Amino acid sequence: MRVAESVVIEIDRNAGPGAAIDGRVRTAAALAKTAIIGTSSCLIDSDDNYDSRTFDEIHFKLKGLPRRSDEPPHPLAHLGEAASIALCAARKSQGETIIFLVNDGGASLVASHYGIPARHFGQVMAELICGGKFTSGDAFDIFAMANSVSGVPQDVAPLDAEALECQKSGESQVCTMCDSIAPMTAAGVEQG
Ligand SMILES: [Zn+2]
Repeated sequence: MRVAESVVIEIDRNAGPGAAIDGRVRTAAALAKTAIIGTSSCLIDSDDNYDSRTFDEIHFKLKGLPRRSDEPPHPLAHLGEAASIALCAARKSQGETIIFLVNDGGASLVASHYGIPARHFGQVMAELICGGKFTSGDAFDIFAMANSVSGVPQDVAPLDAEALECQKSGESQVCTMCDSIAPMTAAGVEQG
């Protein structure tokens, strides 16, 4: 997994004692620093690695999206998302298969303009259930906690544990989540 340097800086800022944010966000940022960013399974992708003109174009598109009603205007808004998409585009042009993990619907839409598929956290949890890593009950608890800090758009957020469950165990024996994982697993791709 890779995280854009700009996002790491944002997490650092949110984890700091002077951050003007609520305690839940600060706790989540501090946890992300030690449990994800500081580990060997997470690479920090430098802002030097993307094309600055692509970044500007992406940032312009993100700024043009309608803002969510619960989202206050912010001078640093979209910088982390723009850097992340610019890095995805750069890595894709190098021949890597990229999946952009993002909970923001607008950012996933802009990423799609560059041919970059996106997954939100609920979809990642569903994949982990299909892969046998979590029960749906545990996964939904984790999702609900994370969703209260970084929200998935309401129209796509799973409402209960059942909504995350693998459909292969149901009557139809067809699971769109399993089917969407299969070709990527075959190509040896990591979630990134
Ligand atoms: Zn499944």
